Amino acid sequence: MESARARFSYASTHASSWVSLARTAEHVIVAAVVVKVAHHVYSVGLKKSIGKLLVGLVRAVPGGSSTLDATLEQEVDSAAKLLTKDVQPNHPKMQSHRFDSLPTTGLSREVVLSKLADLKRADIDSHAGKSWAYVYSQPDNTFDDFLADASNLFMHENALNPMAFPALRKMENDIVRISATLLGGDARACGTMTSGGTESILMAVKAHRDRALKLRNVTEPNMVIPITAHPAFEKAGHYFGVQIRHAPVTNELEDPRVSVPAMAKLIDRNTIMLLGSAPQYPHGVIDDIPALGALALARNIPLHVDACVGGFILPFIRKFRPDLPRFDFSVPGVASMSADLHKYGFSSKGSSVVLYSSEEYRQYQFFTYSEWPGGLFISPSMCGSRGGGPIAAAWACLLSLGESGYVQSARLIMDTADKLSNGVRAIPGLRVIGKPDACLVSFLSTDPTVDILAVADVMEETGWRIERQRKPSSIHLSVMPQHAKIADKFISELAQAVNKVRANQQLAKAGSAAMYGMIAQIPDEKLIESFLVKFMARLYTPTRPAEGGASTSSSSN
Ligand SMILES: *Cc1c(COP(=O)(O)O)cnc(C)c1O
Repeated sequence: MESARARFSYASTHASSWVSLARTAEHVIVAAVVVKVAHHVYSVGLKKSIGKLLVGLVRAVPGGSSTLDATLEQEVDSAAKLLTKDVQPNHPKMQSHRFDSLPTTGLSREVVLSKLADLKRADIDSHAGKSWAYVYSQPDNTFDDFLADASNLFMHENALNPMAFPALRKMENDIVRISATLLGGDARACGTMTSGGTESILMAVKAHRDRALKLRNVTEPNMVIPITAHPAFEKAGHYFGVQIRHAPVTNELEDPRVSVPAMAKLIDRNTIMLLGSAPQYPHGVIDDIPALGALALARNIPLHVDACVGGFILPFIRKFRPDLPRFDFSVPGVASMSADLHKYGFSSKGSSVVLYSSEEYRQYQFFTYSEWPGGLFISPSMCGSRGGGPIAAAWACLLSLGESGYVQSARLIMDTADKLSNGVRAIPGLRVIGKPDACLVSFLSTDPTVDILAVADVMEETGWRIERQRKPSSIHLSVMPQHAKIADKFISELAQAVNKVRANQQLAKAGSAAMYGMIAQIPDEKLIESFLVKFMARLYTPTRPAEGGASTSSSSN
């Protein structure tokens, strides 16, 4: 018994440390999966191999060796195998729709569509309001049908060559113009549509890096960003060779905006850009953009404002809350911004904009190649072919909702967010982090007898999908229109969950609560990363039936 418990602790340490790699829970699929997997591991008990593996890992670490030897490598592999056994797409229910090769003759469209409908039932229902991330849609189903119609009209068109489809170019120009106007840009403001927030961020970092190289010969670039920045900036630094310097927040609990003096101290002559978020994802607060803009101007470094999540809701919140902090191009020093149409813009997935205060910056984003036998090549962003669907859907979405539609949504969302945060504040022992400026709310427990992650576990047992956060341990809510109808229910079930955890102290020693509790013991990031990569590889490699998955699959049924 004792040793099973000890082994679980090790498993927990490692499983949860994957989560720790994600500064925000929303964007790393793995984080969500890991929590589920850990529940599974806990409930079925720990298989020997994992115990051995983790004991091995922990033993291997203090020596400081970060390369795995062959046996450990194998152990990591078998643990990854075990941990992904019941995770989709390896779940038996998914196996009946599994194909390893093309059907010899095509299936009928009805059969294919019914398979899709079946698969869809395995996913969360985005309209039920049970989850607090990922899906940003209008509550009305007919709106989705309308977006689909718009998208379908242009689904085969390609914005790869800006000359080939003038309609796509025109729509993209409209979308960029509308977005820039919303975000305080003047006539010089410009930008590009991209496939999402991450691509927008990658492009801005690349543009600022190349500009610093050209104008100041910066060959060892760094960027100074808040610890609350979205992990897409880590990705950009990794891809583009830009060193990252993290600035802490002013106060973890009272004021989770980035500390501007701390940012100032991290700047040197190789700093290519500064970053503020509007709002940052973990706690929904807008960094002090006017102060960052002033710092940026004083040091002659461009400031990027990441408004991926806020770009299409803050301008509308301002209509009825005029004291909202300033965050956009109207603030001197703001050189570029990212804003996602597929978040609070409510368009279909695959659309975002990256914007610049002028061509002075954007020119460094473009890629050109003139030596190709296939012709002169110019591409604005990461992608080659760019589907017409997301462009048409975003154009249709903006025009159809219009200012009044977005303001109406923003009011509903903010009323719901207020109801939720007041509800949380009214529950003894819970506390909202900072003063959220928009519709993202996070909260923690100030009562030592209430483990907030145990509360999350209890909530998930009753059908909610909860976003867990770290540093400090907390629960995150991104409020959407579909939450209006379930906010009261959420608060009353939350109050019950808190009471249940307070009355059952052992809940804090189980499930994700125990897992996160072990995070402090994470040994070595290299080991965790190796584990993570194998875990990811397994997720994207369905088990063969011979390996013990359901054997009902067939390539032609
Ligand atoms: C969602 C988000 C991103 C990344 O956007 P993706 O579309 O998921 O790539 C970046 N920054 C913030 C603040 C976000 O919330």
